[in-house]
Amino acid sequence: MSEESPRSCLEPRLVFATGNAHKISELEAILAPAWQGYAPGTIARMSDFNAPAPLEDGATFEENSLIKARALVEFTGLPALADDSGICVDIMGGAPGIFSARWCGAHGDDAANLDLLLAQLADVPGAHRGAAFVSAAALVLPDGREFVERGEVRGTLIRERRGEGGFGYDPIFVPEGYSRTSAELSPEEKNAISHRGKAFRALLPAIIEALKGK
Ligand code: IMP
Repeated sequence: MSEESPRSCLEPRLVFATGNAHKISELEAILAPAWQGYAPGTIARMSDFNAPAPLEDGATFEENSLIKARALVEFTGLPALADDSGICVDIMGGAPGIFSARWCGAHGDDAANLDLLLAQLADVPGAHRGAAFVSAAALVLPDGREFVERGEVRGTLIRERRGEGGFGYDPIFVPEGYSRTSAELSPEEKNAISHRGKAFRALLPAIIEALKGK
């Protein structure tokens, strides 16, 4: 682990293949109440190991999450967790899908990705603005065992950004049964219904076993 990491005094038991701070806090919020043994620092990040990001050349969320987790377990020797997620718009045949993070051409430019999607949907009426956030969460263990779970949340896309929370496409996504966007929900409300919340919760038993070292 890098010396500047404030968490380096704790022995990590699992490493999470993300540099996205939002995803890390979502995982911690789900894990902390589910496992009493949880302490900040038991989960390391790929940046703690200077692990290189692998080429995400899978055709599905599941394949890409496994690619990320396999690369990290090989690099660190620790159980590795990864999530691959995105937004799938009905009228666009499921796009941006696995290309959500680089829809505008530049990887991780959330504002430009969202602007492009809004422009592409400018003439689409409300009745045809259905979409789903999808997440596949993968856990790969050093002994070669692999687990992968999928979570989805359906909603509609509005025409202008609303809300300051969340990240990515949250400001234009109104989950089914809500009038607020995902960016207007509290972190707890978002975790309770989100695609990643569902995928991580389905993976929780395997994550907890890995953290216990079994
Ligand atoms: P990944 O990091 O390769 O999984 O890319 C996920 C991309 O999908 C992000 O850059 C966001 O644009 C989008 N995304 C995934 N999950 C969410 C979410 O919970 N809210 C908003 N956007 C999301």
